[in-house]
Amino acid sequence: MPSAHPGHTPAPASAALFARAQAVVPGGVNSPVRAFRSVGGTPRFVARAAGAYLIDADGREYVDLIGSWGPMILGHAHPEVLAAVAQAAARGFSYGTPSENEVALAEEIVARVEPVEQVRLVSSGTEATMSALRLARGITGRSRVVKFAGCYHGHVDALLASAGSGVATFGLPDSAGVPPSAAAETIVLPYNDIAALEAAFAADGEHIAAVITEAAPGNMGVVPPLPGFTEAVRRITRAHGSLLISDEVMTGFRCSRSGWYGLEGPYAAGAPDLFTFGKVMGGGFPAAAFGGPAALMAWLAPDGPVYQAGTLSGNPVATAAGLATLQACTPQVYRHLDTVAAAIAEAAGAELGKAGVPHTIQWAGSMFSIFFADGPVANYDAAKRTSAPAYAAFFHSLLDQGVHLPPSAFEAWFVSAAHDDRAVDRVVAALPAAARAAADSCATIGP
Ligand SMILES: *Cc1c(COP(=O)(O)O)cnc(C)c1O
Repeated sequence: MPSAHPGHTPAPASAALFARAQAVVPGGVNSPVRAFRSVGGTPRFVARAAGAYLIDADGREYVDLIGSWGPMILGHAHPEVLAAVAQAAARGFSYGTPSENEVALAEEIVARVEPVEQVRLVSSGTEATMSALRLARGITGRSRVVKFAGCYHGHVDALLASAGSGVATFGLPDSAGVPPSAAAETIVLPYNDIAALEAAFAADGEHIAAVITEAAPGNMGVVPPLPGFTEAVRRITRAHGSLLISDEVMTGFRCSRSGWYGLEGPYAAGAPDLFTFGKVMGGGFPAAAFGGPAALMAWLAPDGPVYQAGTLSGNPVATAAGLATLQACTPQVYRHLDTVAAAIAEAAGAELGKAGVPHTIQWAGSMFSIFFADGPVANYDAAKRTSAPAYAAFFHSLLDQGVHLPPSAFEAWFVSAAHDDRAVDRVVAALPAAARAAADSCATIGP
């Protein structure tokens, strides 16, 4: 793959670390998308990060548009968060008994998301969705779950199914090691397709414990719900006694102070039953949560029969980071994110337009992504039809110029409170050459 992008700036220190990593870590990475497989080339090993910038092992600085895939909403090493972390760490790293930070973080979340009365803290978004699913199954006594193709809910066995296109279909696992029995209880439907959801519930409604959906999907690129879709999901699940789990791990406290719910809710058909959170609420540390009305959360141990636990759940350092992050996410921060995202997206759209590259920019609050195809993109099948080579060329041109996009065409671009005029100007200055690189790659592969 690297030879496909001859313009690469060499990154010898990263390349050496990557070679070392590949000997002792599968694929050289601890999460697959970091390996650059879909764009080719050598992943940059980051030595440190500050504000809007990543600095790699070769000492090169990049404007960071990954933001750790969402958490770094304030930018890297934000002074207030750093102070909170240092103070918490000085008081010990983990107790295995309750502590005040856990309560304060739960209170902050509950205060921000109106339908959520209680949360249980966990350590990753995967744990949050896995636990919410178990809770929904425990409450309803049903086993099936509906998910939408292209929505990612972490690497939970039952949710690693994306399956066939266009029609309601029983899930086939997307990963080796997921037994067909685990995925067989998962029904995968096309996103934004109310008729498919109605048909699945007409056929199977009394067995469906829950529908889980990204509140506004950001893991197939950004594909927001069409007007009325979330309402319809709520209406249909309620009519069949199934729960609705709104996965706000990515959108929570990012799209607005109350996440996607704060932008689109409240819903006439009622609020989602359970919510999952992660990313921003951990401030870059392992903290996540699931929550809902107290009457539903009472099903959890120790009050109820649904077991759920964690040695590091509510970790004092992670909760201090999360709490300090949320407290610093003021209305000005959200306005700033909107402004910066708009500036970058508009400039990218203009340059891609000038270069004649087909593209579509889609939004969920300040989260956006650029599909290299004509839009709109309303579901996973449409997202998959976009041009991967054009994205790879665009990505590498920007990387060479000191701008680090997510190394995948199917990810949102994340900005932060630390993205100031200097950072935005650097991105904007790099865009014309990147757009031309994307155009050249379109030309070489033909229409
Ligand atoms: C990132 C993400 C997850 C998984 O969170 P991890 O902390 O990576 O386990 C779940 N759901 C959504 C919507 C996500 O974006």
